[in-house]
Amino acid sequence: LVIPDFEVFCQQIQDIFLDTQRNKGGEVADYIPQLARVDPEQFAISICTVDGQRYSIGDSNTNFCLQSSCKPINYCMALEELGEEKVHTHVGREPSGQSFNELALNLKGLPHNPMINAGAMMSCSLIDNKNNSADRFDKVNKTWQALCGGKKMSFNNSVYLSERQTADRNFALAYFMREKNAFPENTNLTETLEFYFQCCSIESSSYDLSVAAATLANAGTNPLTGKAIFKSSTVQNCLSLMLSCGMYDFSGEFAFKIGLPAKSGVSGALMLVIPNLMGISIWSPRLDEVGNSVRGVEFCERLVERFSFHQYDSL
Ligand code: GLN
Repeated sequence: LVIPDFEVFCQQIQDIFLDTQRNKGGEVADYIPQLARVDPEQFAISICTVDGQRYSIGDSNTNFCLQSSCKPINYCMALEELGEEKVHTHVGREPSGQSFNELALNLKGLPHNPMINAGAMMSCSLIDNKNNSADRFDKVNKTWQALCGGKKMSFNNSVYLSERQTADRNFALAYFMREKNAFPENTNLTETLEFYFQCCSIESSSYDLSVAAATLANAGTNPLTGKAIFKSSTVQNCLSLMLSCGMYDFSGEFAFKIGLPAKSGVSGALMLVIPNLMGISIWSPRLDEVGNSVRGVEFCERLVERFSFHQYDSL
C-alpha cells in the first residue's frame, strides 16, 4: 500500500478540511448566472490513491462543471492523437504570467500554453478534427468517463448556453489566433469555440474526479479499472505543464510553495496530482482575484505543511 495507515491519513485530511472550511474569503464567479447562483459554502475533498484507496469528505457527491479543469485532459487527448511535436507547432509550453483569458499570444503568434483559454481552444481544434462535432464531443466525454472509472459524466446545458452567449473574449482570442494562422487548416472557428464551451460544461463530483486525478498520478492507467487511458509520456508532458501553468497567474507561486502539478477552474474546481501516490479533487466555489478556489489553495498549502508531498521535500 502506498499509504500504509490510510485511516490515520484520512483523519489528518479531515482535520485540514475542517480548518480550511473556516475560510470564507473570496467570491464565486459571476460572469454567468449559473455560476453566480452556486451555494458558496460548498466544499468537498476526495482522494484516490494509485492503489485504489479512497476517501471523501464534504459535498463530494455534488456535481460541478469542469471549466478550466478540462484543459489538461484536452491537451492529453491532442498529444495522444498527434504527438508532442505536432501539437506544439500549434501551442507553446511556457507560462504566460498573465490571466487565463488575457488577449495575448507568444512571439510566434501561438497560445503560450494549453492551460489557458487560448491554448485550450487550440487543443479543441486539434482533437479528432476530421470528424463531426457530435463524435468529437463524445470522444472527450468518453475519455473523462474512462478516467473517472466508468460512471457517466453529466453535461450542464445551461452553463454551456451561458458560456456561449457571453463569449466575446474567447471569440476575440480565437480571431486573434486565426489572424496569426495558428489553427490547423480548415478549422471552423465557431465549432471550435462551441466544442471548448461544451468541454467546460461537463460536470461531475469530486468523488468521481479524484479518480481522474489518480489516473494522472498513476501515469495514465486508471487505478480502479486497470485501463490504460493515456501513455506515460503524455501524462509526463501534461503534469509538467500543470506544474508550470496550471494555476493561472499564481502558477509560479503555487509551484514554489506546493511543488505539485494542479489545475483549477472558475467553478472552484481544483485537481491536484501527487505523482505515484494519489489524485485529489477539491471543490469550493469562492475564488481569489486570479480565479483559483480560495479554500482549494489553502487546503493544498496545509497539506504540504503536514506531509512531505512537495516534489523537493525528498531532498
Ligand atoms: N469557461 C471559462 C472561460 O472560457 C473557463 C475559464 C476558467 O475556468 N478559467 O472563460
